[in-house]
Amino acid sequence: MKGNMKNVPLGQPTVGDEELAAVKAVFESGWLSGAGPACQAFEAEFAAAVGATGAVATSNCGSALHLAQLVLGAGAGDEVIVADYTFPATGHSVMWAGATPVFADVRPDIWTIDPASVEDKITSKTVGIIAVDSFGQPADYDELRAIADRHKLWLIEDAACASGATYHGRPAGSLADVAAFSFHGRKGITAGEGGALVSADASLVAHARKLHTYGISPAITRANSTDLPVPSFDELGYNYRMSDVQAAIMREQLKRMPQLLEARSRAADRYAELLGDVELLTLPIALDDRTHPWQSYVIGLDPSLDRGAVAHLLRERGVGCNFGTYASHVQPLYGDQPDLPVSRRLFDRHLAIPMHANLADDDIEYVATTVRDVVSARETQAA
Ligand SMILES: *Cc1c(COP(=O)(O)O)cnc(C)c1O
Repeated sequence: MKGNMKNVPLGQPTVGDEELAAVKAVFESGWLSGAGPACQAFEAEFAAAVGATGAVATSNCGSALHLAQLVLGAGAGDEVIVADYTFPATGHSVMWAGATPVFADVRPDIWTIDPASVEDKITSKTVGIIAVDSFGQPADYDELRAIADRHKLWLIEDAACASGATYHGRPAGSLADVAAFSFHGRKGITAGEGGALVSADASLVAHARKLHTYGISPAITRANSTDLPVPSFDELGYNYRMSDVQAAIMREQLKRMPQLLEARSRAADRYAELLGDVELLTLPIALDDRTHPWQSYVIGLDPSLDRGAVAHLLRERGVGCNFGTYASHVQPLYGDQPDLPVSRRLFDRHLAIPMHANLADDDIEYVATTVRDVVSARETQAA
């Protein structure tokens, strides 16, 4: 073991005094629960930042995806085509809505849903498509929009990792009928947990807002009324609210976002310089017509490498790592699904290495040197 060993975590939030001060202000305001003044302010700021008409601050991205399908229309007997290479929230949310997820394969270069695979999966039961901005990089929304329009389907953007990304100059969040963001601790901007649903369609936003608070009007509108409005229940809603404590943190994270994007972009460029010549690795790419927010930095390992052994040695040397994300179609929950070879291969060969806005230059150099050493070590050659 080297004397100058470092510990570089895979991900790390960037939070500080500004977030603490914002939380203190919420404590002093007395409104800690959800859908209060801090949430209202955050929703307006976030909608403006992502080019949407309105936003609903939610408990997480999964709840925003569920709400998106409830307001666009998905239920028993319907099929929803979902990008296969993704987090469980995407496929699960289709089942929460009572519909059936049908997975489509992804592009081998940027890992977003392959429009040709979407076309293959359309049946008379298909009602919509959920594209995933893979580790933040937007999918092919021009092609997806054309397919959706031709078949009269709705389109959802799972923008969980995509805060700050753009596609053809338009921000992630403005690329589909509804978009869902995550503010989990591993994402680019975070309140620990949290999410948002955004749309250009004010009526969809209003409907989602109603459903995210048990299907009744929010307490704040009743609190500000001079008479005594008593709501009745005409629709099944949920408690999918973000708390005002989280919203106050998110307002500060939004202010930090340009610096966070800049820091991650610099780290990605540096990794590309330091690892570009390692033959057994495939480095991630960012296409010219979109900007990548680099929520994660995921490298592909050559089949001659034993990924488990690589991960073990990296962790032993203090370099955080993980698999990329999941191939959905192989998961037992979703039943028998046809093979999707690109996604399956990415699920087998991907390895995420440290990526966050707090990486110092010598952290990046340490990670790159260690990856280079480990990949050429005898222990990591597949049997
Ligand atoms: C993280 C993630 C989610 C889930 O976000 P939560 O806020 O934890 O619900 C959904 N989709 C993708 C693509 C993600 O990466």
